[in-house]
Amino acid sequence: MTPPRATMPPTSTQTAAPAAPPTTAPPATRRRATVPTTPLAKVRRARRINAELILGYPDAVCELDFTTPLELAVATILSAQCTDVRVNATTPALFARYRNAQDYAQADPTELEEMIRPTGFFRNKTASLIGLGQQLITRFGGEVPATLEELVTLPGIGRKTANVVLGNAFGVPGITVDTHLGRLVRRWGLTTEEDPVKVELELNELLRPADWTMFSHRTIYHGRRVCHARKPACGACYLKALCPSYPLGPVEPGIAADLVKGAEREHLLELAGLRAPGPVEPEGTLKGGATTEPGSAGGVHPV
Ligand code: SF4
Repeated sequence: MTPPRATMPPTSTQTAAPAAPPTTAPPATRRRATVPTTPLAKVRRARRINAELILGYPDAVCELDFTTPLELAVATILSAQCTDVRVNATTPALFARYRNAQDYAQADPTELEEMIRPTGFFRNKTASLIGLGQQLITRFGGEVPATLEELVTLPGIGRKTANVVLGNAFGVPGITVDTHLGRLVRRWGLTTEEDPVKVELELNELLRPADWTMFSHRTIYHGRRVCHARKPACGACYLKALCPSYPLGPVEPGIAADLVKGAEREHLLELAGLRAPGPVEPEGTLKGGATTEPGSAGGVHPV
């Protein structure tokens, strides 16, 4: 093997060659993400964020409990202005009492109201559920239809609910634009639209249909766990390099980490560089010696 040649400095009679360009990049200074302006840039940003969301929330699922399309339709109607946790606490007894469309069609309004009262707006929701049962019986043989066009003609079912039912009970891809998803895709610069239908149609152009349903779930997960409406945990958000809205919320690691909720908290903090990979560190310990505030909730937060 030929030993490497020593490099001699130029003598006084030699002309020094122009300095070669550095072979290594200068120290990285992280660039802030900008709002994607071209259609192609939006597509790339959306798909990159989708890929990152898969890393953050590999096990994301519809957070409403159900076993049939009818149960999912009912649970989604109940979830309006209500948390999924509360809906899931209400539906076991409801689903045991009302087993099919006929049961809802013939329901005693007072009894049904009492059962779903904890979910709020119970009178309107009762009217929707009874109307839903009646329409399913008279028009669809008691079965929940599997098309968007038919679903949105049913009482209590708008486009958002229809996409939830289609995507999760029938495997038909759909973007569910709820308050979380709308907020996040606007923060990510993927749309400026406020109207949910326009947001949905714009996202349909950016993402592959096969990703629509799970992108919705994962974005909603991120909205509930990290990118909160009032105080997003920007300093503990693993998507900040892709987010033109950064920093919208606290950036100090300890404060931001305290804002991260949910069963995925440790995993999300690790992705954000605030936890060393490997075994979970004692609660309150952040990478680099930072600590969460005393008394902060470091475990699983109800979301
Ligand atoms: S950086 Fe902040 S605004 Fe952007 S996604 Fe993360 S939490 Fe939301």
